[in-house]
Amino acid sequence: MHYRRFGKTEMELSVFTLGAMRFLESDTNAIATIEKALDLGINHIETAKGYGKSEVFIGAAMAAGLARRREEFYLTTKIPPTEDPATMAQLIDQSLRRLQVDFVDNFDIHGINTPAHLEMVRNPDGCMKAVQAAVVQGKIRHVGFSTHGSLAVILGAIETDLFASVNLHYYYFNQHNEPAVQRAAEKDMGVFIISPSDKGGMLYTPPPLLQDLCAPFSPLYINDRFLLSDLRVHTLSLGAANPQEFGDHRVAWDMVGPLTPEEQAVLARLDRQYGVLGGDRCSQCFACLPCPEQINIPEVLRLRNMAIAFEMQSFGEYRYKMFEHAGHWFPGRKANHCTDCGDCLPRCPEVLEIPRLLRDAHQRLHTVEGKRLWE
Ligand code: SF4
Ligand code: SF4
Repeated sequence: MHYRRFGKTEMELSVFTLGAMRFLESDTNAIATIEKALDLGINHIETAKGYGKSEVFIGAAMAAGLARRREEFYLTTKIPPTEDPATMAQLIDQSLRRLQVDFVDNFDIHGINTPAHLEMVRNPDGCMKAVQAAVVQGKIRHVGFSTHGSLAVILGAIETDLFASVNLHYYYFNQHNEPAVQRAAEKDMGVFIISPSDKGGMLYTPPPLLQDLCAPFSPLYINDRFLLSDLRVHTLSLGAANPQEFGDHRVAWDMVGPLTPEEQAVLARLDRQYGVLGGDRCSQCFACLPCPEQINIPEVLRLRNMAIAFEMQSFGEYRYKMFEHAGHWFPGRKANHCTDCGDCLPRCPEVLEIPRLLRDAHQRLHTVEGKRLWE
């Protein structure tokens, strides 16, 4: 296991973090999973008020003996933005009680996803007042934010200078947030990648074509290396649900340094594979937005890109069914709402036939409806 300075927090975090959103079974399973993570050298555990019973399970683990190992790990929890400081203060105390700790090393505002959330944290009389009071009281050591929002919202949150770290989506298969990673690096912020294996492409169950393209490595490994060879990135979430689920990342966490020639060759092969999309490739520039029907055109077409170029059909279906069911966590409506109004067409530098591609994407990817993982 390797460790990286998490930006200006000065915490030396393991390059993998135990993301505790999948502790859905029992407190004994949570205890065993945390113990296993610590034994493997993982020194950062990340949870949230919103992750079901995750905080309670971690609290049970603390009471059952984990407290004796408190010096061995950093603990992060997250709470969504609130309108007023009193509510936030109450929620912070509630999380500390549930976790059975006096303080958390790191606290994230959970989900600065919309311009309204950004205004809530910018408000000098809003929830950040309570967060900053909790820092003074020793309940919180460092403050960051997590986000599923647009690049503009993420950059806006970074520019507030209220936060020492950011927890965001950025993967080989989704590089749109790269300017936020760069800006965070310029501001010496910690950069924590959300769910690289799952949201990064369900890479633990890759289709045969993707496996072939990544050979002799695994797709999971290649994405880990894409991220960790980039020194602006500090730690990746590993959402193990039980002690058996750590194995796949172990090759990557023992690797340091820049990409090897073999790894570079695989990434170049993946880049070339987008060529199979021909003139229908969405380049993810986001210039087509806004759509009056609130269709998340770039994300729909990203899923289409992946389904066609890499046969990542299951991933495409998994994410597509989230539209209209996860609110600001995964915004936008499904592609079948396109009215052919044509507003987006002059804005697309690739001159894509967007309505046709949206219809095709819907036909390929529409299945049953979905919910967020922790619901
Ligand atoms: S043509 Fe369809 S996708 Fe484009 S702006 Fe109109 S409704 Fe939205
Ligand atoms: S403008 Fe065109 S290329 Fe850019 S994201 Fe929208 S559809 Fe894709």
